Amino acid sequence: MDPTGPTQTPSDVPEGANLVASEARPAAVPAGRFTNLFGMDRERLRAEFASIGEKPFRADQIMQWIYRRGVDDFGGMTNISKDLRARLESSFVVRPPELLTEQKSIDGTRKWVLKVGGGQAIETVFIPEKDRGTLCISSQVGCAMDCAFCSTGQQGLNRNLDTAEIVAQVWFAAKALGGDFQNERVISNVVFMGMGEPLANYNAVLPAVKILQDDFGFGLSKRRVTVSTSGLVPFIDRLREDVDTALAVSLHAPSDDLRNVLVPINKKYPIAELMDACRRYTAQRDHKMHIVYEYVMLDGVNDSPAQARDLAKLLNGMPAKVNLIPFNPFPETRFKRSRPEAIEAFANVLRAKNILATTRKTRGDDIDAACGQLVGKVLNKQKRRLGDIPVRTA
Ligand code: SAH
Ligand code: SF4
Repeated sequence: MDPTGPTQTPSDVPEGANLVASEARPAAVPAGRFTNLFGMDRERLRAEFASIGEKPFRADQIMQWIYRRGVDDFGGMTNISKDLRARLESSFVVRPPELLTEQKSIDGTRKWVLKVGGGQAIETVFIPEKDRGTLCISSQVGCAMDCAFCSTGQQGLNRNLDTAEIVAQVWFAAKALGGDFQNERVISNVVFMGMGEPLANYNAVLPAVKILQDDFGFGLSKRRVTVSTSGLVPFIDRLREDVDTALAVSLHAPSDDLRNVLVPINKKYPIAELMDACRRYTAQRDHKMHIVYEYVMLDGVNDSPAQARDLAKLLNGMPAKVNLIPFNPFPETRFKRSRPEAIEAFANVLRAKNILATTRKTRGDDIDAACGQLVGKVLNKQKRRLGDIPVRTA
């Protein structure tokens, strides 16, 4: 099955195009009757096979077909007996999401809007760079965290994605990018930085991380799968216990006063508690695994040299890297992007204190694919109101 639909191939998507794949292909199977195998990690699939009297290694073979060879049709799984294939066909399906629209930025960034049922849609973004290809995936339809500078947050939450909907984004993108699943890996990194707060959907995200890292799954190394969180402390601890994966923390402010308004979950888990959880996270792992602290640069709000010094103090002695993200505007936002000189000065204060600091290049903003611009299509949202944001006037 070609997930891009019959009318689109990777090479004929014009730059800046917004293609609508209306009725590009019918739903593969009626919903409900079948279990989508994208939703099962190896442990679960092995148990499932054992329960139908099959050898567990069959689960490994099926996963290899799906994730290492890109096969979604049981008929094509040639080392599986006809009998087992028939049994699989009667209960399971390997079903990628349907494509709604596809866009390509002038810088090569690709964005897919994918249908997830109930009139909802999510966004998945591919960012090609010289030395890697990063796929940014969604974990929820919308987000309940209500961060003041984030367009996804402004929509509220509609629902959690299930594991299959999370994992299938990667499979879909790998197919759409036309890479060979075995040799030429177009997607080298996966980041949970699309729509949603992954740790607010922990039970679905954990098996997805396992499938991404599994040798029989996508086989990505633990450093190349990054969970990004606004700071749900108890789930940072659970993640540390359950799987070894890279972590990014959306900090955005060096003090509770400011973080309470920019990232409201801070009222529940203030900075000191968050930093303790981060220390526990890195203490358990090899020290080369820094936590990346994301810091959106908002003009006159969080970008002063004094705030950079406070941030440096906060991160002092921790295995940390700061990623400064120039704010990406969206309609009806009251924020402005910091001036480039302010961002540079901020980074220099951090570097002077021996903290690694990089500025994220803004990619795909001509197709609204940059951080915080992902809106998908969220219906029945719980609309939330912002508190007042303290903006310096001087
Ligand atoms: N919910 C998770 C992951 C998704 S957001 C989290 O918050 O970490 C991914 C990153 O984009 C986060 O660091 C987020 O704070 C940042 N972001 C959100 N809106 C943005 C905007 N308008 N401009 C720049 N970055 C933004
Ligand atoms: Fe949710 Fe992350 Fe946006 Fe905050 S920044 S509203 S946690 S998606």
